[in-house]
Amino acid sequence: MSDNAFSPGEALADDEIRVTLLGTGTPFPRRGQACAGVFVEAGREKFLLDCGPGVPQNFTSLETPFTAVDKVFVTHHHVDHIGGLDHFWIGGWTYGRRTPLKVWGPPGTADIVDGLRRIYAWDIETRLDALPPGGHEVTCVEFDRDGVIYDSFDQGGVRITAFKVVHTEPQNTYGMKIEYGERVFVFSGDTKKCDALIEHAAGCDLLIHEAFPPAELYAEKSNRPIEIAKKISEIYHTSPREVGEVFAATRPRLGVIYHMYNNNDVVGPALDQIREGYRGAVEIGYDLMVINVGKEVTTRPAIHDDKPWPVGRTA
Ligand SMILES: [Zn+2]
Ligand SMILES: [Zn+2]
Repeated sequence: MSDNAFSPGEALADDEIRVTLLGTGTPFPRRGQACAGVFVEAGREKFLLDCGPGVPQNFTSLETPFTAVDKVFVTHHHVDHIGGLDHFWIGGWTYGRRTPLKVWGPPGTADIVDGLRRIYAWDIETRLDALPPGGHEVTCVEFDRDGVIYDSFDQGGVRITAFKVVHTEPQNTYGMKIEYGERVFVFSGDTKKCDALIEHAAGCDLLIHEAFPPAELYAEKSNRPIEIAKKISEIYHTSPREVGEVFAATRPRLGVIYHMYNNNDVVGPALDQIREGYRGAVEIGYDLMVINVGKEVTTRPAIHDDKPWPVGRTA
């Protein structure tokens, strides 16, 4: 762990957003890289963007109490972005959260949340015997167009704007822009290179954009025909070369890519492609990378515990 590692519990300046990557991988389940999830802290607000498999484990590794987070904003319904919701909801209640988990997402999210309630009816019934109610509930707010989906900006909080991006058919995927004071952070969700994102991210402080490995490399690594690899890498997702173009067009203070296979033989060629069209600050996101967005934009690894105990009162 480097000397300047982030220590959980560290104070956050009034003019800063802190963004912790809880998962930076792809739908391929990997022990060493969780699926998509971002933990955002700004003023009194703390929330998640997406909650893929592995995200709850990375969250608890920071030894942050579950009581700290009762909001999850979902970009779309692929399993690598929502597959950790059930565990974050019920695990969070079991180990401390006493308020409902609130989930925001595109059309279909309410059905998914209802489905989770049905699937886990017995689970919840059995736990209500020992646990106080409240946290066993999960609620949903759907949004179906571009616009503000959450706003506490004028009370010293954040404004979250969802905007439609271009991913898989039928299209139902959103990127998210988070504003806090003078700071702006944009999260792409999953998208191919698209104008809506470039418009919303222009001049932002931090842009976390997805990237998929170059098609040839992905075909080789995943044992797929090149035509399929090209479709996945370049039609459903954004190639590293195109991410470089997005960064060049939006000029964020820092560009971070996620949704990657963080292997040395992928990261090197990906960075080379990004660099073809972009000379600004860029980093490859990794699990438990902490990004402070303030007067400076800095990145550090988080000190974490792989076998944490619950934090705070749990009953
Ligand atoms: Zn997706
Ligand atoms: Zn994805």
